[in-house]
Amino acid sequence: MPCPPTPPRSTPLVIAIDGPAASGKSSVGHELARRLGFLFFDTGAMYRAVTLAAIRRHIPIDDEQQITRLANELPIHVQPPAIDDGRRYTVLVGEDDVTWELRGSEVDAHVSAVSAYPGVRRALTRQQRRIASQGNVVMAGRDIGTVVFPEAPLKIYLDASAAERARRRYEEQLQRQQAADYEAILRGVRERDQIDSHRPTAPLRIASDAVVLQTDDLEQQEVVAAVLKLVHERLHLEIHHQQVHQ
Ligand code: C5P
Repeated sequence: MPCPPTPPRSTPLVIAIDGPAASGKSSVGHELARRLGFLFFDTGAMYRAVTLAAIRRHIPIDDEQQITRLANELPIHVQPPAIDDGRRYTVLVGEDDVTWELRGSEVDAHVSAVSAYPGVRRALTRQQRRIASQGNVVMAGRDIGTVVFPEAPLKIYLDASAAERARRRYEEQLQRQQAADYEAILRGVRERDQIDSHRPTAPLRIASDAVVLQTDDLEQQEVVAAVLKLVHERLHLEIHHQQVHQ
C-alpha cells in the first residue's frame, strides 16, 4: 500500500531505543539513524563520561554530592566520529577525546552506581532534551521512552537474554583484539541489569507504549529491518521501499 505523505512537523522527532546492557541499542540505533538521516545519540556515553571523570579525579564512587556536582559541570560533547577507527561517535570531555576509555572495565564496573544518583540523572536528562531539540534524533538509553521523552512517537525496547548479550560483547572485544573473559562479562552484564532495573529514579523498565523486540535469534540487520518497518507504519516517514526490505 502506498505510504501517506509525511505530515508536517514543527518539533523535531525522537525515536527512543531503550534496553538492558549490550542489547544492541547502539549498533541498531546507529544504523537506523544513518538510514533515516537522523542524528544518533547514545546517552550511555554521557553516564560513562561522568564515571570516567570521577575515577580520574579520584572522587570516591559513593560520594554522591561530588559526583552530582561533576555531572553538572562536566563539558561532555558527543559528536559525529572524528576518526575512522570503528567508533560510532566521538566523545569529548572538554578537549579530551575519551571515546575508547569510556568502554574500559573500570567504567563498566562503576557506571550503574553513578547513574543511580538522582542529581546526575537530572543534569544529564536536561542536556539530552536540549540535544533533541536541535533536530530529529534516534536516542538510545535506559529511560528515554519512560522519562526523557515520554511523548516520543516511537519507542523500541530491545531485549535479549543475559547470556546472548554477554556473548555479543565478548565477540566485540575479541574483534577489537582486546582480552575477553566471557564469564566476567556475563557477571558484569547481570550486575548492571540488577542495579539499572532496581534504582528508585528512572529505573530500566519497558514503557507501556513501547514495542519490545526480542533479539536473541535475530541478526542485527533483521532488527534494523523490523524497526524500519515500524518507522514506516507508525511515523509514515518517507523511507524508500528497498531500504525497508533490505
Ligand atoms: O548503554 P550503556 O551500557 O553504555 O550504558 C552504561 C550505563 O549507563 C548503564 O548501565 C546505566 O547504568 C547508565 N544509563 C542510564 N540511563 C541511560 C543510559 C545509560 O542509567 N539513559
